[in-house]
Amino acid sequence: MERILAFGCHPDDVEFMATGTLALLAKQGCEIHIATMTGGEVGSPDKTSAEIKAIRLKEAAAAAAVIGAQYHYTGGHDLEVDFNSEYRRMTTRVMRKVDPTIVLTHPPMDYLADHEETSRLVRNAAYIASVPLYDQECPFKPTGRFPHLYYWNAMGLKDIFGRPLPLQCGVDISSVMAEKEKMLLCHASQRDWLAHHNGWDAYTGVLRDMAVAQGKLIGRAQGECFIQHLGNGHPQDNILAKLLGNNVVLM
Ligand SMILES: [Zn+2]
Repeated sequence: MERILAFGCHPDDVEFMATGTLALLAKQGCEIHIATMTGGEVGSPDKTSAEIKAIRLKEAAAAAAVIGAQYHYTGGHDLEVDFNSEYRRMTTRVMRKVDPTIVLTHPPMDYLADHEETSRLVRNAAYIASVPLYDQECPFKPTGRFPHLYYWNAMGLKDIFGRPLPLQCGVDISSVMAEKEKMLLCHASQRDWLAHHNGWDAYTGVLRDMAVAQGKLIGRAQGECFIQHLGNGHPQDNILAKLLGNNVVLM
């Protein structure tokens, strides 16, 4: 059975970009894990950091539970994600704890540096989690493989120069939009915060718009698109296409 780890920066990032695909993989019998680098400590207009973090970790766990996934908090701090030795170790420990066969994360270029740093940390951890002499104090044993690694689309579906990413495949998530929206709505504090911040309830609107726009790219009603990491060591076959059959359209 495949073990999937979707590793995002903030609580709700995975919900926006990849939970349709996770819901389909869960239906195929895959074991699903969702991790966040940070506790979303700055996502509130009126609560303290500690208060909003406690709320957001609970929301993230509740969202994961919608599809029977396990939630993991890495230990990082919102807007301070940094490719340093402490973050590398924390990220690799989550990788070793879950020991995934497939990893999904942010693309290397995204609108927020926190997302880009998370992408780099997760990519690095996917590679070095198997190295026996790295972090020998780690309570979890080194992994036995390089996992399949995929990047989901950039938030807003464009890189920082406004260009579309070089997407390789799209997953038809039309049959699981209800689960995807239900997972996002578990993040009630963010819906409130964005309503406060933007003056309207954009939360589910953004999710639907991005799903429809990506569906259009693959000729389906709603979609989530991905780029596979094909660097040295990682498997080169498209395992998402194998697992999800007709739901996957190559681009
Ligand atoms: Zn984020």
